[in-house]
Amino acid sequence: MENGLMNMRSLPSVDRLLQIDSAADLIVRYGRPLLVEAVRESIDSARASLQNGGEIISNEGLIAASEELLESWLSSTLQPVINATGVVIHTNLGRSPLSQAAIEAIRKIAQGYSTIEYDLDRGKRGKREQHCEILLRQITHAEAGIVVNNNAAAILLSLTALAKRKTVLISRSQLIEIGGGFRIPDVLKQSGAKLIEVGTTNRTHLHDFESAIETRTALILLAHHSNFKIVGFTTEPSLDELVSLGKRFDIPVLHDLGSGALLDTAQFGMAHEPTVQESIAAGAQLVAFSGDKLLGGPQAGILVGKKSLIDKLRVHPLARAVRPDKIALAALVATLQHYLKNEALQEIPIWQMIAADEQVLKQRAEHWVETIGAGEVAAGASTVGGGSLPEETQKTWHLKIVIPKPDHFTKRLRQWHVPIIARIEDNHVLLDPRTVLPSQEEELLRALATLLSD
Ligand SMILES: *Cc1c(COP(=O)(O)O)cnc(C)c1O
Repeated sequence: MENGLMNMRSLPSVDRLLQIDSAADLIVRYGRPLLVEAVRESIDSARASLQNGGEIISNEGLIAASEELLESWLSSTLQPVINATGVVIHTNLGRSPLSQAAIEAIRKIAQGYSTIEYDLDRGKRGKREQHCEILLRQITHAEAGIVVNNNAAAILLSLTALAKRKTVLISRSQLIEIGGGFRIPDVLKQSGAKLIEVGTTNRTHLHDFESAIETRTALILLAHHSNFKIVGFTTEPSLDELVSLGKRFDIPVLHDLGSGALLDTAQFGMAHEPTVQESIAAGAQLVAFSGDKLLGGPQAGILVGKKSLIDKLRVHPLARAVRPDKIALAALVATLQHYLKNEALQEIPIWQMIAADEQVLKQRAEHWVETIGAGEVAAGASTVGGGSLPEETQKTWHLKIVIPKPDHFTKRLRQWHVPIIARIEDNHVLLDPRTVLPSQEEELLRALATLLSD
């Protein structure tokens, strides 16, 4: 006890520490005020450590601890990684990498002023909505379109503007939770709309919807199952059937498509993911989807459909709170242009990955094995992810590394200066060339060669 008190007293003051030689360099590099913060925090933790029976730390040690703190404060936790998981739209890794044109558009718009809300003809305030709408109309053949911050916001805005204090019908089989705890029913509630669950978990019939319709019914919501698949004894009314029913009672249908594919995924050996164009053609009055899933663009929520409804969303006060920023809009315009010019498969990274030829993937994996002189090539499966095409996989070729402590090795991969995210399956480390961008390949091979040789 006596000894402990002595130790407390022996801790130096902030001023004393700032006078020692090794502090001088830190003052130059980080400035005095920030260094004072760091030194204070280091002394505090040294005190806490002493109270718990820890060792006395020298003044040099305290300065070294302060430097570590400063480095951690100034390093960004948001940093690029190499995705070797084979999950193309990986929500935790930022979903879609952008096309070169989208990156260039961001650079141009980010570095200066722009026409984000300026009409050059009239020399007056213009509309933020104008930038994407023509593209969206051309591509999807909808009457109108609006862009918001993300798809969750698109659904929230739709329900708030169209169904507040009214009711929304949804099949029980579609009351889903997608990644990150986003539950469709919770968003419905935030809007002030009352949710009427129709049918049962596995079977919902059109007549269940029909008998639930009453005077306050404002919207029928059809939601994509996203990340799960119901199999077995199941049925749900189709979009066509819901649209016909809605028309009889003058109730619009909102189709939450989730991933929002504009191209047919069946051409790449997977199930057909419903497209935005199909929903519009089937008569859905509103279709909502994300910008950074199968569209392959920036984070955004996109709504297309009837002009009369989109206009109601546009003027609702909530639209202002969920509006997209100029950087996302710049990237979205460039991404949508790829679809209009029919070059999406060549220009958009996620479509290049999905369309990658199996033989080319095999050659890449073989090249990896040759270059690093370790591992083997093994057949495997990649997934699209992002709440699209659940259970669907594409054939791929992995670099497979058989190593005694696979989790130790994957941790070292994550600690590489460009962190590398790999998978472990059956106790082996797997790296999938499908999701490794060609520009990152050299770095990946350097890391593997280095880590496998020591
Ligand atoms: C992903 C998804 C959403 C949410 O989209 P965000 O753009 O992430 O907000 C909503 N509904 C469905 C069906 C989805 O798959």
